[in-house]
Amino acid sequence: MHDDRTLVESRLKRVLAERIRPAVYPESVPLEVGVWTAPGEPVPVAEGLAAPRSPIAVGDAWGAPWGTSWITVTGTVPQAWAGRTVEALIDLGFDANMPGFQCEGLVYRPDGTPVKGLNPQNQWVRIAAPAVGGEPVLLHVEAASNPVIMDYRPFLPTELGDKETAGDRPQYRLARMDLAVFDETVWQLVLDLEVLGELMAELPVDGARRWELLRAIERALDAVDLQDVNGTAAAARSELTAVLAAPAVPSAHRISAIGHAHIDSAWLWPLRETVRKVARTTANMTALLEDEPDFLYTMSQAQQFAWIKEHRPEVYARVRKAVAEGRFVPAGGMWVESDTNMPSSEAMARQFVYGKRFFLDEFGVENHEAWLPDTFGFTGGLPQIIRNAGSKWLLTQKISWSQVNTFPHHTFLWEGIDGTRIFTHFPPVDTYNCSMKGSEIAHAARNFKDKGVAGHSLAPTGWGDGGGGTTREMVAKAARLRDLEGSATVRWEKPAEFFARAEAEYQDPPVWVGELYLELHRATLTSQAKTKQGNRRSENLLREAELWCATAALRTGAAYPYEQLDRIWKTVLLHQFHDILPGSSIAWVHREAEATYAALAGELEGLIGAAQRALAGDAGGGRELVFNAAPHPRSTVPAGGAAVVAAPAEGCTVAERPEGGYLLRNGLLEVVVDADGLVASVVELASGRETVSPGSRANLLQLHPDFPNMWDAWDVDRFYRNTVTDLTGVDALTAAADGGRASVRIERSFGSSTVVQTLTLHAGEQRLDVDTEVDWHETEKFLKLAFPLDIHTERYAAETQFGHLHRPTHTNTSWDAAKFEACNHRFVHLEEPGWGVALVTASTYGHDVTRTVRDTDGGTTTTVRCSLLRAPRFPDPKTDQGLHRFRHALVPGAAIGDAVREGYRIGLPERRVTGTAERVAPLVEPDHDALVVSAVKLADDRSGDLIVRVYEASGGRTRGRLTTSFPLADAVPCDLLERPWDGTRGDVAVEDGAVRLALRPFELVTLRLRAAG
Ligand SMILES: [Zn+2]
Repeated sequence: MHDDRTLVESRLKRVLAERIRPAVYPESVPLEVGVWTAPGEPVPVAEGLAAPRSPIAVGDAWGAPWGTSWITVTGTVPQAWAGRTVEALIDLGFDANMPGFQCEGLVYRPDGTPVKGLNPQNQWVRIAAPAVGGEPVLLHVEAASNPVIMDYRPFLPTELGDKETAGDRPQYRLARMDLAVFDETVWQLVLDLEVLGELMAELPVDGARRWELLRAIERALDAVDLQDVNGTAAAARSELTAVLAAPAVPSAHRISAIGHAHIDSAWLWPLRETVRKVARTTANMTALLEDEPDFLYTMSQAQQFAWIKEHRPEVYARVRKAVAEGRFVPAGGMWVESDTNMPSSEAMARQFVYGKRFFLDEFGVENHEAWLPDTFGFTGGLPQIIRNAGSKWLLTQKISWSQVNTFPHHTFLWEGIDGTRIFTHFPPVDTYNCSMKGSEIAHAARNFKDKGVAGHSLAPTGWGDGGGGTTREMVAKAARLRDLEGSATVRWEKPAEFFARAEAEYQDPPVWVGELYLELHRATLTSQAKTKQGNRRSENLLREAELWCATAALRTGAAYPYEQLDRIWKTVLLHQFHDILPGSSIAWVHREAEATYAALAGELEGLIGAAQRALAGDAGGGRELVFNAAPHPRSTVPAGGAAVVAAPAEGCTVAERPEGGYLLRNGLLEVVVDADGLVASVVELASGRETVSPGSRANLLQLHPDFPNMWDAWDVDRFYRNTVTDLTGVDALTAAADGGRASVRIERSFGSSTVVQTLTLHAGEQRLDVDTEVDWHETEKFLKLAFPLDIHTERYAAETQFGHLHRPTHTNTSWDAAKFEACNHRFVHLEEPGWGVALVTASTYGHDVTRTVRDTDGGTTTTVRCSLLRAPRFPDPKTDQGLHRFRHALVPGAAIGDAVREGYRIGLPERRVTGTAERVAPLVEPDHDALVVSAVKLADDRSGDLIVRVYEASGGRTRGRLTTSFPLADAVPCDLLERPWDGTRGDVAVEDGAVRLALRPFELVTLRLRAAG
């Protein structure tokens, strides 16, 4: 037979595009259109509905950036359309190739009830089926003229990302605004041909099924009269019935599809716009659920449910109803889909606590899957947190974005730092915006790495962000793919049903140990430093506020601020969303975040101050009490308590060196700062050990060009290291000492920027504090602070949630080499047997560790560099410009326990309060340094019980006692939601009025303590 394959394929393409698709709406009449532009920010629905309209026509420009226009369409169903299906087609000026990230609308009836959203691939509104001739049509559209930030040429700097700089040029032109007849038979024919045509393109050319489809499609096209598509569509469809009815082969890959819209809680739009994006999408999805009985939809992020509950109650009522029917499925059980690299131990725990509790309280639903399709890498601490939250599964697809290495599994057990294993699935469709295209379905089946032992995968299906979710066309395609020869099978299924099935079929899944490192978006550990500092400061203040408010409540009967702490926690958790904390949002988002963090800090300082004053007693008492919120004692101040402290230690000196620079001493360390203001030597006097690598100098600021190939705020590409400038020029070098401390101040300037550093030794403290103040006015540069250390080690430790993990200092494999920028919480720690060094950081997360061998003595230099600042220009063209302050500390002779202790110390400074009390005893006190208290708070159920979270911080086995300063009746191990839990492996018992604990490496235990009497 002659090979006419490409001829028929080309024919299908043209006839579909030019004749069949246009015939879906064979007749139309224009609607009349009026508009009112809200003067500033969005207005309440009633106000928008009531405002007077001015005429506007198709082709007219509308919509200043970030504006809201209330558009009204009116018309009458022609008499001739009686009995037919009639829809309004409302094209606000969409680009259908960009299903999201543009203007959007939410359609209302005149009484203010929402109908559905309008999105680039979702422009229809059903008017009637069957229609009544002469019926009037009146709809209102709340249209948001969100500008396109990421265009066809992405990553170009733009001023559109903030209302304050975006200007007022209209962004869109009204396109089609019609009332039209909808021909369902033609619409079904389009979907038949799309599904079969797309499947055909994926099948092997030498297979019979491909040719069977080709011949059927050809017969269908022959049956279409191009002058009467509507009259012949049914005949064309009947030519396809047989090939659509052929069932899938028994070994076909099985896809569990779930309707979804990945809605970033802020990104290329501000937080307030996400509220409306969620309302539009959920209005669409509840409407689709009513139309499509097999369809199921899932939405994650409790915050997004809470937003529509507060701001769009009429949409929320529809969501509640669909959830109750089991068809709108809350997913993930987290407050937002957060970053997981940077949130602190407690914050990561609270993401689950607040998320799961919201779904339990609102819907009586408990999730068992963590749903993080788009998060930029997953820490080794996360599995234990997921398990402690009462969950057991994880879904993400993001690791498929890695630049270098292909992850070997799609379904596997992921083991965290403590040994907890979580059943994990990476959808092989490699997207969270599946649209049921044949290429996607075939890719999922081909790509799935666990073939032969497992056969199921999940496909989140629908347009995210501004796309409006799943479309009726995707549902129609899924129906055809349910059991179709040549294709994977597709059925709508809830995430929990998928996970249960996948877990049951996979008897002995492979295991991946340690972090799931994303080999991309590494610069999100550094971009937008002020957002990151706001997060870290809030986490620290929340710890203090809970600790001191709980102490004041139990000691003095002060009221515990449950509602206020809840609200603040939720705000902090929201800002850990995976485009806010990582610094990848527009300027507007980060400008607001900075202001929000400042307001939260004020509130938390108020709570802390009030609680401490209540504990200290009458301020006229004249005693100065020192409060210590850290989990380790400081001098005579107990951890979690307060005491009057004797006069501070003395003994710090500074001396000028004849060759320039200064010598700092405090009896523990001797530090040489040379004439360039660099640290030439740090000797631990007890051991005589030098910390700085011979011939190198520490505290070296290094500047790199930093212009990645794409994703400017997200990415730093490896070639940035090829060029470096050491900032050694000094403008001024001065020193000071007052007995209690000795310091050197260094001033430098470079490019358009200046930097002032202060290096300080404190009496009685074995660490060198490094304060760095940068007035940063660079563009596309990366600033690092380097410490070349005389340490020989193949690995180093970096703190993560509830422990630390090890990473190599070498680049043996492509996996090692790809980790050229990584995350730490408060410390990195390097050691040779018997001697180590910690580098502690107050607010930076990004760092790199490299090794070289010296020519002079053959020794190894291991260089730790903290990432301070970047200056990408997309999506915020002025990222990080201005004044920043960073605090670091070098701790020579540090064991891992010292690193943990100094890490807490740098974020939790002592507070001094005047009063009558001599001492505030801690509510709870462990007797072992490795038993670290991560939270002390009152129970969320308001029973007055004390909740204490403790973890083993050394990575070893630790036995110890937790004593309480109140008579203890009971200690109940709980999950993170403070429910009694036997899942803990911690050996916990109450003995002699104290809690005896025996914990395994990094084990986490939440205890509910009840006071006696
Ligand atoms: Zn996202």
